[in-house]
Amino acid sequence: MKLPRYVKPLPKIFNKLSFKGYTLIFFKIIFLRREIFDNLKSNNPTTQNISILKHEEVHLQRAGKLQALKYLFPKIHLQEELITYKEQFKFLKENNETYNLENVAKHLPGLNYQSAKKIITKIWNEA
Ligand SMILES: [Zn+2]
Repeated sequence: MKLPRYVKPLPKIFNKLSFKGYTLIFFKIIFLRREIFDNLKSNNPTTQNISILKHEEVHLQRAGKLQALKYLFPKIHLQEELITYKEQFKFLKENNETYNLENVAKHLPGLNYQSAKKIITKIWNEA
């Protein structure tokens, strides 16, 4: 599919660092891991990867509001993630897809796994 100009592949240097996320937003550009970027650019992108792009687009639309603060305050970061995951989950459900909630729970900021799993399951059910 055709990607908007603000979507770029993540520079190689991040593969060497222990960068866990799929993406990075920097100066209003969404950087996606190369394998996700390549898949989205192909003629048959997966719904999972499209949903990751959607997630990041919600972050991007909200950038400027709280994006810079979120790294200082885990509560704000968590709030932002829950808002973006909800939009992503709506899209996945519309397309009859599931998502790896365990993996999300492991990476939610400022929460232990049990609480994170509970919250993200609630967000999935409400989406
Ligand atoms: Zn996010």
